[in-house]
Amino acid sequence: MSELRQNLATKEWYIIATERAKRPMDFNLDDKKREQQEYSTECPFCPGNESLTREHTHEIKMNGKWVVRSVPNKYSALQPEGNRERVDKGVYRKMQGVGYHEVIIESDLHNDNYYKMPVEHIENIIRLYIHRYREFISDEKVEDVIIFKNYGSSAGSSMAHPHSQIIATPIVPTPTRSILESAKRYYDDHGRCAYCQMISEELHEKTRVVTSNEEFVVFCPYASGTPFETWIVPRTHRADFCDIPEDEIHGLAAIMKDIFSRYYYGLEDPDFNFVIKTPPRDESNDRSFHWYIQVFPKITKIAGFELGSGMYINVTIPEENAEFLRAIDIKNIKE
Ligand SMILES: [Zn+2]
Ligand SMILES: [Zn+2]
Repeated sequence: MSELRQNLATKEWYIIATERAKRPMDFNLDDKKREQQEYSTECPFCPGNESLTREHTHEIKMNGKWVVRSVPNKYSALQPEGNRERVDKGVYRKMQGVGYHEVIIESDLHNDNYYKMPVEHIENIIRLYIHRYREFISDEKVEDVIIFKNYGSSAGSSMAHPHSQIIATPIVPTPTRSILESAKRYYDDHGRCAYCQMISEELHEKTRVVTSNEEFVVFCPYASGTPFETWIVPRTHRADFCDIPEDEIHGLAAIMKDIFSRYYYGLEDPDFNFVIKTPPRDESNDRSFHWYIQVFPKITKIAGFELGSGMYINVTIPEENAEFLRAIDIKNIKE
């Protein structure tokens, strides 16, 4: 029997199709191309090729050389110039594509990857995210800031060099609004943050927890639509990602290295997306929302039913996914 499961915080339903349950070895995991070289002459993100990108907006340096930097996206989805006046034309409405779209160049090495980066380096990536986020949100035209990563061609990435992206939008996207409202309703009903509730349940039950440290817990959500999907959730309640205190940045970097090493070694370096879920402007002190990172490995394809209904069929069981990822002994892997 398959079953439907509902996510406590977001109220989204997912189909867990246990009869179609697959183990990692049943997925086609080996048709990916990865860069082997530390440097590429044609890559605009490699050191020395800075003139191939637009002027950087921020960078963090070590020994006089940049190690992470942000640049405006060459094919920007939104532009800083303009206003966010709604224009009605008959029954339809439009506005200018105002906002920001930047690329975070995550490393000076063309073939770098979270599993092999020093934790201190990942800390710098996080600091750059926070820096750019704060700058965008200080612009009155910006309502929401979305930080995400596409890794590999099936996840939508066209550049091999390690990078992530930030888009600052002049509106609040509808799914964001929906998640916020679900969290608010849960808070009204229970007097408690749904995410805090989920963390204590997961830590108590243990079956879906993949890894944890003092500040963060990583688990496969009870209701999730993607095989091996994980959520990286801070133990301390904080609505806004950018309010993460300096002394927790190390914990976040360490847990990111941990979980992405598990994906790399256990699932043979899958393509993936992640998105940092953080509230839009003016909702950042909300007691009902709790920031987290949602990670979606790309090992199955999205098809018509998912696109049409917004409801996902997960062909794996979250508890089994967690057990598999938990068992990977990342400390004793020899390359
Ligand atoms: Zn490069
Ligand atoms: Zn919370």
